[in-house]
Amino acid sequence: MVLVELNNVSFTYHSKVKNSGFALENINLVINRGDFISILGPNGCGKSTLLKLIARLLTPVDGKLLFDNIEYDRIPLKKFTRRLAYVPQITYSIYPFTVFEIVLMGRTPYLNLLGFENKKDIDLVNESLEKVGVYHLRDKGINEISGGEAQRAFIARALVQNPEIILLDEPNAHLDIEHQVEIFNLLTTLNRNDNLTIVTVSHDLSLVGNYSQRALLMKQGKIVLDDDKRSILTTDNIREIFKVDSVVRYDQDREAILINIVPERK
Ligand code: ADP
Ligand code: MG
Repeated sequence: MVLVELNNVSFTYHSKVKNSGFALENINLVINRGDFISILGPNGCGKSTLLKLIARLLTPVDGKLLFDNIEYDRIPLKKFTRRLAYVPQITYSIYPFTVFEIVLMGRTPYLNLLGFENKKDIDLVNESLEKVGVYHLRDKGINEISGGEAQRAFIARALVQNPEIILLDEPNAHLDIEHQVEIFNLLTTLNRNDNLTIVTVSHDLSLVGNYSQRALLMKQGKIVLDDDKRSILTTDNIREIFKVDSVVRYDQDREAILINIVPERK
């Protein structure tokens, strides 16, 4: 069942000036309920821009976006944010709220007119902090913890929105290996058990290969491939997009894709 659909979506950062700089052109994409999609591609190819368009943080210049068959601009924003959560790439210029306060912000779409949270909101926040392993940091300032810990706090904030789909922009960028695997395990559990739809941008080919089902390869503002991850993660595609040599194998016993970047043989 289709959850999000992009029909011929185009976008530029300077809509009034034609042909100026970067553009996303004629993006067609169908995200099905229950998908676990990874977006891959070199720096500057438009991954974050695409994610922000899907998150409704940017407005397309042309084309349509639909959520559950309804055009985005016909859905009130508060309703929209109960259904879709976005985890931005970590930035360090954040107001000095505590971890608890940041995660509580995820409940905003559910608060009453006066904006007061109730016990249920608080319980959900605590539960979510626990789930991503930062409960012990709840009273610390978001700027007083590590990048990886802040990343997990933002994932907790997305989870308390109780969304049907979660978009994550390089969620593993600041995480150590243990927490990368932990977060991707958590995403997998939510995907399988709660049918949460997941779209994540990542540069880690092993994580993409072993956790997502479907992958999109982007290049210069276009989705050039959209397929099952095993069809996408080939030596040829990795060379074409990232210009590096690699060995890709499938380990039957472990049911795992093994990807090694190898030095170019001259
Ligand atoms: P990626 O996430 O794949 O690295 P982005 O979507 O962030 O790429 O950026 C795509 C292109 O758009 C880049 O050339 C970038 O410089 C440009 N860009 C990103 N954000 C802005 C902005 N706010 N204003 C103008 N140009 C931008
Ligand atoms: Mg980006």
